[in-house]
Amino acid sequence: MSALPINRAELEQIVRKVVYERVLTNVRGPAPTLVVHASARHAHLSREHLDQLFGPGYELTVDRELYQPGNFAAKETVTLIGPRSRLISNLRILGPLRNRSQVELAFTDAVSLGFENVPVRLSGDIDGTPGCFIMGPRGMAELKEGVIRAAIHVHMNPSEAAYYGVKHRDLMKLRVGGDAGLTFNRVHVRVDPTVRLNVHMDTDEANACGLHLAKEIELFRVGE
Ligand SMILES: [Zn+2]
Repeated sequence: MSALPINRAELEQIVRKVVYERVLTNVRGPAPTLVVHASARHAHLSREHLDQLFGPGYELTVDRELYQPGNFAAKETVTLIGPRSRLISNLRILGPLRNRSQVELAFTDAVSLGFENVPVRLSGDIDGTPGCFIMGPRGMAELKEGVIRAAIHVHMNPSEAAYYGVKHRDLMKLRVGGDAGLTFNRVHVRVDPTVRLNVHMDTDEANACGLHLAKEIELFRVGE
């Protein structure tokens, strides 16, 4: 006979409830879909620079909507003139316009243009970076600064951040499987309610890890 003050059925019910509650609090929900893109070199322009390059009041033409809502690749391109007059033509402009112009290059691009030292920065963090000249169909613009190698980063909205247990400005790791597989150890977290989960790396990084062939890609918190 049972010596417990409650019967077996009641006990089982209590145990089940406790277990169920623990499972619920540990549940992360379904994993959000992870999309990884390689960003080829491109420019973001200010209104002032767009006017100088394409004429006053010019509006960009959408060529292709990008994965992040509101962002697009424009039909318009410019020519980037680097140090020692080396240049890259057909540099794609990405819209919409920004407060400050910025050129994002892969390391290989920077080397071929003759830049000695293009720092790895997050988008928008351009103080003290090298400048360049840009040529458009209606004129030239001088960027006093704004040439960067974009730091590998992951865009996510707050619920995706909660799923991974990270916050804005944290670092995460991205493991890319395959024959050339490697792990990126410093993937910057950018939380914004208007975005969806998306890693951006440059073309050098994508080539190094064989991104186009990679099947297993995993994003995880540092320390996991
Ligand atoms: Zn991005």
